[in-house]
Amino acid sequence: MSDTALLACSDVEQAAARLRGAAHRTPVLTSATADARTGARLFFKCENYQRMGAFKFRGAFNAIARFTPAQRAAGVLTFSSGNHAQAIALSARLAGIRATIIMPHDAPALKVQATREYGGEVLFYDRYTENREEIARRLATERGITLVPPYDHPDVICGQGTAAQELFEDVGPLDVLLVPLGGGGLLAGCALAASGLAPGCKVIGVEPEAGNDGQQSLRRGQIVHIGVPKTIADGAMVTHVGEHNFEVIRRRVDDIVTVSDAQLVETMKFLAERMKMVVEPTGCLGAAAALCGVLPVAGKRVGILISGGNVDLSRFAALVA
Ligand SMILES: *Cc1c(COP(=O)(O)O)cnc(C)c1O
Repeated sequence: MSDTALLACSDVEQAAARLRGAAHRTPVLTSATADARTGARLFFKCENYQRMGAFKFRGAFNAIARFTPAQRAAGVLTFSSGNHAQAIALSARLAGIRATIIMPHDAPALKVQATREYGGEVLFYDRYTENREEIARRLATERGITLVPPYDHPDVICGQGTAAQELFEDVGPLDVLLVPLGGGGLLAGCALAASGLAPGCKVIGVEPEAGNDGQQSLRRGQIVHIGVPKTIADGAMVTHVGEHNFEVIRRRVDDIVTVSDAQLVETMKFLAERMKMVVEPTGCLGAAAALCGVLPVAGKRVGILISGGNVDLSRFAALVA
Protein backbone atom coordinates (compact mmCIF):
# COMPACT_ATOMS: atom_id res chain seq x y z
CA MET A 1 0.00 0.00 0.00
CA SER A 2 1.27 3.45 -0.82
CA ASP A 3 0.75 6.68 1.11
CA THR A 4 -2.46 8.18 -0.28
CA ALA A 5 -1.24 11.77 -0.05
CA LEU A 6 1.56 10.86 -2.45
CA LEU A 7 -0.61 9.07 -5.00
CA ALA A 8 -0.28 10.49 -8.49
CA CYS A 9 -1.36 9.85 -12.04
CA SER A 10 1.74 7.69 -12.50
CA ASP A 11 0.31 5.20 -9.98
CA VAL A 12 -2.79 4.90 -12.18
CA GLU A 13 -0.55 4.38 -15.21
CA GLN A 14 1.30 1.59 -13.38
CA ALA A 15 -2.05 -0.02 -12.58
CA ALA A 16 -2.95 0.20 -16.27
CA ALA A 17 0.22 -1.72 -17.13
CA ARG A 18 -0.77 -4.49 -14.66
CA LEU A 19 -4.28 -4.65 -16.12
CA ARG A 20 -3.15 -4.86 -19.73
CA GLY A 21 -4.41 -8.11 -21.23
CA ALA A 22 -6.56 -8.86 -18.16
CA ALA A 23 -9.20 -6.10 -18.21
CA HIS A 24 -11.21 -5.22 -21.30
CA ARG A 25 -10.49 -1.87 -22.87
CA THR A 26 -14.18 -0.94 -22.83
CA PRO A 27 -15.75 0.99 -25.71
CA VAL A 28 -16.52 4.72 -25.72
CA LEU A 29 -19.96 5.32 -27.23
CA THR A 30 -21.55 8.53 -28.48
CA SER A 31 -25.18 9.39 -29.26
CA ALA A 32 -26.41 12.13 -31.57
CA THR A 33 -29.69 12.14 -29.62
CA ALA A 34 -27.90 12.64 -26.29
CA ASP A 35 -25.79 15.43 -27.83
CA ALA A 36 -28.89 17.17 -29.25
CA ARG A 37 -30.68 16.88 -25.91
CA THR A 38 -27.83 18.47 -23.93
CA GLY A 39 -26.17 20.71 -26.52
CA ALA A 40 -22.89 19.06 -25.52
CA ARG A 41 -20.58 16.46 -27.00
CA LEU A 42 -20.94 13.42 -24.71
CA PHE A 43 -18.51 10.48 -24.53
CA PHE A 44 -19.83 7.45 -22.63
CA LYS A 45 -17.11 5.18 -21.19
CA CYS A 46 -18.98 1.89 -20.97
CA GLU A 47 -17.76 -0.11 -17.98
CA ASN A 48 -21.02 -2.05 -18.11
CA TYR A 49 -19.07 -4.03 -20.74
CA GLN A 50 -16.11 -4.63 -18.39
CA ARG A 51 -15.41 -8.19 -17.17
CA MET A 52 -18.01 -9.21 -14.56
CA GLY A 53 -20.08 -6.22 -15.65
CA ALA A 54 -18.55 -3.28 -13.79
CA PHE A 55 -15.35 -1.23 -13.36
CA LYS A 56 -14.72 -2.95 -10.00
CA PHE A 57 -12.67 -5.62 -11.78
CA ARG A 58 -9.95 -3.01 -12.33
CA GLY A 59 -9.34 -2.16 -8.67
CA ALA A 60 -9.66 -5.73 -7.43
CA PHE A 61 -7.28 -7.12 -10.04
CA ASN A 62 -4.72 -4.35 -9.45
CA ALA A 63 -4.73 -4.91 -5.68
CA ILE A 64 -4.26 -8.68 -6.02
CA ALA A 65 -1.58 -8.26 -8.69
CA ARG A 66 0.52 -6.45 -6.06
CA PHE A 67 0.35 -9.31 -3.51
CA THR A 68 3.64 -10.79 -2.28
CA PRO A 69 4.13 -14.58 -2.59
CA ALA A 70 3.20 -14.95 1.11
CA GLN A 71 -0.01 -12.98 0.59
CA ARG A 72 -0.85 -15.06 -2.47
CA ALA A 73 -0.40 -18.27 -0.49
CA ALA A 74 -2.87 -17.14 2.20
CA GLY A 75 -5.45 -15.72 -0.21
CA VAL A 76 -7.69 -12.67 -0.33
CA LEU A 77 -10.67 -11.65 1.79
CA THR A 78 -13.36 -9.06 1.32
CA PHE A 79 -16.82 -7.99 2.46
CA SER A 80 -19.36 -6.98 -0.18
CA SER A 81 -22.75 -8.01 -1.44
CA GLY A 82 -22.30 -6.22 -4.71
CA ASN A 83 -19.99 -5.93 -7.68
CA HIS A 84 -16.79 -5.91 -5.61
CA ALA A 85 -17.49 -9.48 -4.44
CA GLN A 86 -17.59 -10.74 -8.00
CA ALA A 87 -14.58 -8.62 -8.92
CA ILE A 88 -12.48 -10.15 -6.13
CA ALA A 89 -13.67 -13.70 -6.86
CA LEU A 90 -12.81 -13.39 -10.56
CA SER A 91 -9.48 -11.62 -9.98
CA ALA A 92 -8.47 -14.25 -7.41
CA ARG A 93 -9.31 -17.05 -9.79
CA LEU A 94 -7.22 -15.43 -12.53
CA ALA A 95 -4.33 -15.05 -10.07
CA GLY A 96 -4.73 -18.66 -8.93
CA ILE A 97 -5.38 -17.76 -5.28
CA ARG A 98 -8.23 -18.39 -2.79
CA ALA A 99 -10.93 -15.79 -2.22
CA THR A 100 -13.18 -15.56 0.84
CA ILE A 101 -16.13 -13.18 0.60
CA ILE A 102 -18.22 -12.09 3.58
CA MET A 103 -21.82 -11.39 2.58
CA PRO A 104 -25.01 -10.61 4.49
CA HIS A 105 -27.18 -13.73 4.91
CA ASP A 106 -29.96 -11.97 3.01
CA ALA A 107 -27.80 -11.01 -0.01
CA PRO A 108 -29.58 -11.52 -3.35
CA ALA A 109 -29.30 -15.19 -4.38
CA LEU A 110 -28.10 -14.16 -7.84
CA LYS A 111 -25.12 -12.27 -6.42
CA VAL A 112 -24.18 -15.14 -4.12
CA GLN A 113 -24.42 -17.55 -7.04
CA ALA A 114 -22.35 -15.34 -9.35
CA THR A 115 -19.63 -14.99 -6.69
CA ARG A 116 -19.53 -18.78 -6.18
CA GLU A 117 -19.41 -19.36 -9.92
CA TYR A 118 -16.26 -17.27 -10.07
CA GLY A 119 -14.79 -19.60 -7.43
CA GLY A 120 -15.21 -17.46 -4.31
CA GLU A 121 -15.98 -19.02 -0.91
CA VAL A 122 -18.95 -17.15 0.61
CA LEU A 123 -19.22 -16.68 4.40
CA PHE A 124 -22.51 -15.27 5.68
CA TYR A 125 -23.07 -12.81 8.52
CA ASP A 126 -26.15 -11.22 10.06
CA ARG A 127 -26.22 -7.60 8.93
CA TYR A 128 -28.50 -6.59 11.81
CA THR A 129 -26.44 -8.03 14.70
CA GLU A 130 -22.88 -8.35 13.37
CA ASN A 131 -20.31 -5.89 12.02
CA ARG A 132 -18.81 -7.11 8.75
CA GLU A 133 -15.65 -5.06 9.08
CA GLU A 134 -14.95 -6.57 12.48
CA ILE A 135 -15.51 -10.09 11.15
CA ALA A 136 -13.23 -9.33 8.23
CA ARG A 137 -10.49 -7.95 10.47
CA ARG A 138 -10.70 -10.97 12.79
CA LEU A 139 -10.50 -13.43 9.90
CA ALA A 140 -7.61 -11.50 8.40
CA THR A 141 -5.68 -11.72 11.67
CA GLU A 142 -6.56 -15.35 12.45
CA ARG A 143 -5.90 -16.76 8.99
CA GLY A 144 -3.31 -14.29 7.72
CA ILE A 145 -5.53 -13.45 4.74
CA THR A 146 -5.19 -10.03 3.11
CA LEU A 147 -8.28 -7.85 3.19
CA VAL A 148 -9.03 -5.91 0.00
CA PRO A 149 -11.95 -3.58 0.83
CA PRO A 150 -14.34 -2.28 -1.87
CA TYR A 151 -12.97 1.26 -2.09
CA ASP A 152 -10.84 2.45 0.84
CA HIS A 153 -7.48 1.25 -0.48
CA PRO A 154 -4.80 2.97 -2.63
CA ASP A 155 -4.39 0.02 -5.02
CA VAL A 156 -8.15 -0.22 -5.52
CA ILE A 157 -8.31 3.54 -6.19
CA CYS A 158 -5.51 3.42 -8.77
CA GLY A 159 -7.03 0.42 -10.53
CA GLN A 160 -10.39 2.16 -10.88
CA GLY A 161 -8.66 5.25 -12.31
CA THR A 162 -7.51 3.27 -15.35
CA ALA A 163 -11.05 3.60 -16.77
CA ALA A 164 -10.60 7.39 -16.97
CA GLN A 165 -7.05 6.99 -18.32
CA GLU A 166 -8.41 4.96 -21.26
CA LEU A 167 -11.14 7.53 -21.88
CA PHE A 168 -8.64 10.42 -22.01
CA GLU A 169 -6.38 8.39 -24.31
CA ASP A 170 -9.27 7.55 -26.64
CA VAL A 171 -11.13 10.87 -26.96
CA GLY A 172 -8.56 13.56 -26.17
CA PRO A 173 -9.23 16.68 -24.12
CA LEU A 174 -12.47 16.94 -22.12
CA ASP A 175 -13.97 19.88 -20.25
CA VAL A 176 -15.84 17.80 -17.67
CA LEU A 177 -15.80 14.21 -16.43
CA LEU A 178 -18.90 12.91 -14.58
CA VAL A 179 -18.27 9.98 -12.24
CA PRO A 180 -20.66 7.91 -10.08
CA LEU A 181 -19.81 8.15 -6.38
CA GLY A 182 -20.34 5.59 -3.63
CA GLY A 183 -17.36 5.07 -1.34
CA GLY A 184 -15.14 7.05 -3.69
CA GLY A 185 -12.83 4.47 -5.29
CA LEU A 186 -13.85 5.30 -8.82
CA LEU A 187 -14.03 9.07 -8.27
CA ALA A 188 -10.63 9.29 -6.54
CA GLY A 189 -8.99 7.12 -9.22
CA CYS A 190 -10.48 9.14 -12.07
CA ALA A 191 -9.38 12.40 -10.42
CA LEU A 192 -5.82 11.07 -10.16
CA ALA A 193 -5.85 10.10 -13.84
CA ALA A 194 -7.19 13.53 -14.80
CA SER A 195 -4.53 15.32 -12.75
CA GLY A 196 -1.83 14.02 -15.07
CA LEU A 197 -3.58 13.28 -18.35
CA ALA A 198 -6.26 15.99 -18.53
CA PRO A 199 -5.35 18.76 -16.11
CA GLY A 200 -7.92 21.16 -17.61
CA CYS A 201 -10.79 18.70 -17.12
CA LYS A 202 -13.16 19.34 -14.21
CA VAL A 203 -13.88 16.10 -12.34
CA ILE A 204 -17.34 15.94 -10.80
CA GLY A 205 -18.76 13.20 -8.59
CA VAL A 206 -22.44 12.30 -8.83
CA GLU A 207 -24.27 10.61 -5.95
CA PRO A 208 -27.90 9.82 -5.12
CA GLU A 209 -29.91 12.69 -3.66
CA ALA A 210 -30.90 10.47 -0.70
CA GLY A 211 -27.24 9.97 0.25
CA ASN A 212 -25.29 13.17 -0.35
CA ASP A 213 -22.62 12.44 2.27
CA GLY A 214 -19.88 12.95 -0.33
CA GLN A 215 -21.18 16.40 -1.23
CA GLN A 216 -21.44 17.36 2.44
CA SER A 217 -17.94 16.02 3.08
CA LEU A 218 -16.37 17.98 0.23
CA ARG A 219 -18.07 21.21 1.36
CA ARG A 220 -17.10 20.75 4.99
CA GLY A 221 -13.57 19.53 4.34
CA GLN A 222 -14.06 16.41 6.48
CA ILE A 223 -15.79 13.06 6.12
CA VAL A 224 -19.49 13.30 6.99
CA HIS A 225 -21.37 10.16 8.09
CA ILE A 226 -25.07 9.64 7.29
CA GLY A 227 -27.64 6.85 7.82
CA VAL A 228 -27.95 4.14 5.14
CA PRO A 229 -29.55 6.05 2.23
CA LYS A 230 -32.78 4.81 0.66
CA THR A 231 -32.13 4.80 -3.08
CA ILE A 232 -32.38 2.47 -6.08
CA ALA A 233 -28.64 3.07 -6.63
CA ASP A 234 -27.59 0.05 -4.54
CA GLY A 235 -23.91 0.46 -5.47
CA ALA A 236 -23.90 3.88 -3.79
CA MET A 237 -25.71 2.97 -0.56
CA VAL A 238 -22.72 3.87 1.59
CA THR A 239 -22.83 5.91 4.79
CA HIS A 240 -19.52 7.73 4.24
CA VAL A 241 -16.67 7.94 1.76
CA GLY A 242 -13.40 6.15 2.57
CA GLU A 243 -10.45 7.84 4.25
CA HIS A 244 -7.95 7.18 1.47
CA ASN A 245 -10.62 8.23 -1.00
CA PHE A 246 -11.35 11.50 0.73
CA GLU A 247 -7.64 12.37 0.84
CA VAL A 248 -7.68 12.37 -2.96
CA ILE A 249 -11.20 13.74 -3.45
CA ARG A 250 -10.73 16.84 -1.28
CA ARG A 251 -7.56 17.75 -3.20
CA ARG A 252 -8.54 16.88 -6.75
CA VAL A 253 -12.33 16.78 -7.23
CA ASP A 254 -14.02 20.01 -8.36
CA ASP A 255 -17.57 19.37 -7.17
CA ILE A 256 -20.10 16.73 -6.19
CA VAL A 257 -23.72 16.94 -7.38
CA THR A 258 -26.76 14.76 -6.72
CA VAL A 259 -29.52 13.18 -8.82
CA SER A 260 -32.90 11.74 -7.78
CA ASP A 261 -34.08 8.16 -8.20
CA ALA A 262 -36.63 9.41 -10.75
CA GLN A 263 -33.78 10.92 -12.80
CA LEU A 264 -31.89 7.60 -12.58
CA VAL A 265 -34.93 5.75 -13.95
CA GLU A 266 -35.34 8.29 -16.75
CA THR A 267 -31.67 7.78 -17.63
CA MET A 268 -31.94 3.96 -17.53
CA LYS A 269 -34.77 4.28 -20.06
CA PHE A 270 -32.85 6.68 -22.28
CA LEU A 271 -29.73 4.49 -22.34
CA ALA A 272 -31.80 1.39 -23.12
CA GLU A 273 -34.04 2.95 -25.78
CA ARG A 274 -31.54 5.21 -27.50
CA MET A 275 -28.21 3.48 -26.95
CA LYS A 276 -29.35 -0.16 -26.52
CA MET A 277 -27.55 -0.51 -23.19
CA VAL A 278 -28.64 -2.20 -19.98
CA VAL A 279 -27.17 -0.07 -17.18
CA GLU A 280 -27.80 -0.64 -13.47
CA PRO A 281 -29.23 2.30 -11.48
CA THR A 282 -25.88 3.21 -9.88
CA GLY A 283 -24.23 3.06 -13.29
CA CYS A 284 -26.53 5.86 -14.49
CA LEU A 285 -25.48 8.49 -11.90
CA GLY A 286 -23.00 10.35 -14.13
CA ALA A 287 -25.19 10.18 -17.22
CA ALA A 288 -28.23 11.43 -15.30
CA ALA A 289 -26.40 14.58 -14.22
CA ALA A 290 -25.87 15.52 -17.88
CA LEU A 291 -29.05 14.14 -19.49
CA CYS A 292 -31.47 15.48 -16.85
CA GLY A 293 -29.98 18.96 -16.80
CA VAL A 294 -28.59 18.81 -13.25
CA LEU A 295 -25.34 20.25 -14.52
CA PRO A 296 -25.11 22.79 -17.37
CA VAL A 297 -22.96 21.10 -20.04
CA ALA A 298 -24.01 22.89 -23.26
CA GLY A 299 -21.08 23.57 -25.57
CA LYS A 300 -18.74 21.29 -23.61
CA ARG A 301 -16.92 18.05 -24.27
CA VAL A 302 -18.13 15.78 -21.50
CA GLY A 303 -16.89 12.37 -20.39
CA ILE A 304 -19.45 10.15 -18.67
CA LEU A 305 -18.45 7.08 -16.69
CA ILE A 306 -21.11 4.37 -17.10
CA SER A 307 -19.95 2.30 -14.13
CA GLY A 308 -21.83 -1.01 -14.41
CA GLY A 309 -24.64 -3.06 -15.87
CA ASN A 310 -25.44 -5.70 -13.25
CA VAL A 311 -29.17 -5.58 -12.64
CA ASP A 312 -31.71 -8.43 -12.65
CA LEU A 313 -33.74 -8.17 -15.83
CA SER A 314 -36.97 -8.40 -13.82
CA ARG A 315 -35.87 -5.50 -11.60
CA PHE A 316 -34.80 -3.52 -14.65
CA ALA A 317 -38.20 -4.10 -16.26
CA ALA A 318 -40.05 -3.12 -13.07
CA LEU A 319 -38.05 0.10 -12.74
CA VAL A 320 -38.53 1.28 -16.33
CA ALA A 321 -42.17 0.10 -16.63
C1 LIG B 1 -19.26 0.25 -6.56
C2 LIG B 1 -19.99 0.93 -7.64
C3 LIG B 1 -20.07 2.33 -7.72
C4 LIG B 1 -19.46 3.24 -6.68
O1 LIG B 1 -18.06 3.10 -6.69
P1 LIG B 1 -17.17 3.64 -5.46
O2 LIG B 1 -15.79 3.31 -5.85
O3 LIG B 1 -17.62 2.89 -4.24
O4 LIG B 1 -17.45 5.08 -5.32
C5 LIG B 1 -20.71 2.90 -8.81
N1 LIG B 1 -21.29 2.13 -9.76
C6 LIG B 1 -21.25 0.78 -9.72
C7 LIG B 1 -21.90 0.01 -10.80
C8 LIG B 1 -20.59 0.12 -8.66
O5 LIG B 1 -20.55 -1.21 -8.62
